[in-house]
Formats: sequence, C-alpha cells, structure tokens
Amino acid sequence: MLEIGGLDAGYGRLTVLHDVAFRIGDGEIVALVGANGAGKTTLVRALCGLIAPTAGRIIKDAFDVTRVPTHERMRTGIAVVLENRRLWGELTVRENLRLAEVNARQGGKVNFTLADVTRLFPIIAERQSSAVELLSGGEQQMVAIARALLMQPDLLIMDEPSTGLAPKIVKEILGVIRGLRDRGISLLLVEQNVGIASEIADRGYVMALGRIVHEIVPGGWQSFLSDERMVKAYLGD
Ligand code: ATP
Repeated sequence: MLEIGGLDAGYGRLTVLHDVAFRIGDGEIVALVGANGAGKTTLVRALCGLIAPTAGRIIKDAFDVTRVPTHERMRTGIAVVLENRRLWGELTVRENLRLAEVNARQGGKVNFTLADVTRLFPIIAERQSSAVELLSGGEQQMVAIARALLMQPDLLIMDEPSTGLAPKIVKEILGVIRGLRDRGISLLLVEQNVGIASEIADRGYVMALGRIVHEIVPGGWQSFLSDERMVKAYLGD
C-alpha cells in the first residue's frame, strides 16, 4: 500500500527527517510514535506533499508519488487528518463535507457516502447546519475524519487524533478507526500517546530525532512498553 525509503525532509536548510523507511500493508493499522519534536508531523507533511523531500521515495501502490503535488496525491487514495484539523470554521458541517464530496476521487475501496459517515458519527446529522467553529474539539475531529473519508481514501493518515480530547471521545474515535480497518482501509496513526497507539495498532514504528529507531512487530507492544529503558530513551517520561 505505502512504502517509504531513504526519506530526508525538513524546512529550508534544516533537515528534520533522516533516512526514514517504513511500509504499511493493506488493511493494517500502523502507529508512528515519538516524543515532542521527534519529527512526526514533518513526516505527515512529507507524506501528503506539503513539504518536498530532499531524498528518498514515497511509493503508493507501486506509483512513485514523491514529487506529486498534494491534491493529485489525494487522488491515489491517501487522505490526511492534520493535527489542527484544517476545517473551514465559518462554513457549516454540511458545507465542509460537501466540499469533500465534490473533490473526491472516483473508485475508492469503500465508497463512503454521507449516510455512512453520519452512521459513524451521528453528530454530523445533529449539527449539520452549525458553523464548524462552534463545535467542540471532539466534534470537529469527527467532522475532520468524516471529511477525509468522503475523499474515498484507501489509506488514512491521522496526526495526533487524540490530542485534547476527552477519554470517552477518544474511545469512540478508536472504535471508528477499528471499523475502518475492518472495511479494508489502511491507517497510519501518528501518536504521542503510546498507550493509545498500543491499544489500536497492529504494528508500530518509533521515531526519535527524525529517525525510525525501533519497529514494533505484531504482538510486540507489550514487550516494548515493559522495557522502561527503551520507552524512556525514545519517548521521554
Ligand atoms: P509534536 O508532537 O510536538 O508535534 P513532532 O514529532 O510532530 O512533535 P515536528 O513538528 O515534526 O515534531 O518537529 C520536528 C522538528 O522540526 C522540530 O525540531 C521543530 O522545531 C522543527 N519544525 C517543525 N515545523 C517547522 C517549520 N515550519 N519550520 C522550521 N522548523 C520546523
């Protein structure tokens, strides 16, 4: 589904990512964990084309998308929920989702409809006429995920979906993420909270100082979490 190799990227002369390599298979939930400033958001930006890598390759389903601009990259089935959600605050929930519908690619794996995403997040029907900026953080996160799904992705990248949300909302969102995996969607979950990542992800990668420093294999979360020295070294306290 996605294969990244030898990726360097950063801002101007500052290289943040060094030789990053990993892969995500069909229908997998993969977590990328790391402390503050490890380079996680920079990797998300490189994956969706918001910054240009200075070396390496991003391959999506055998297509080299390394230099493909963001909007065209979305057409290959990658959708992103960015950390600050990037919704149109003054537009209503319905208008935000409509924008995704008209820009969606054809021929996604699932063909998500408005009815589908409303079933996942009933709040969408309840607040459809509200300006997005009037919604709570959790509600906005749900609209942002719904919008990404209406782009008909087969790979959904989520940057810190749990940040600032109440545990009950996080649980609800994790439930939806599991359901998406069961429908064949692959997910890259970028998380600072390793507890949440371990709860949901099949596998994981640990990033520190812009490098992938450890891989967590299927069933390997427990042994990683119980290695205090490693957790402290890579993720801080
Ligand atoms: P957090 O969880 O705190 O968001 P992160 O792992 O996502 O951390 P990044 O935001 O990718 O980390 O930051 C990695 C490094 O890149 C940091 O040293 C940061 O200061 C730097 N950086 C991030 N954005 C920019 C930018 N727009 N211009 C210059 N440097 C940046």
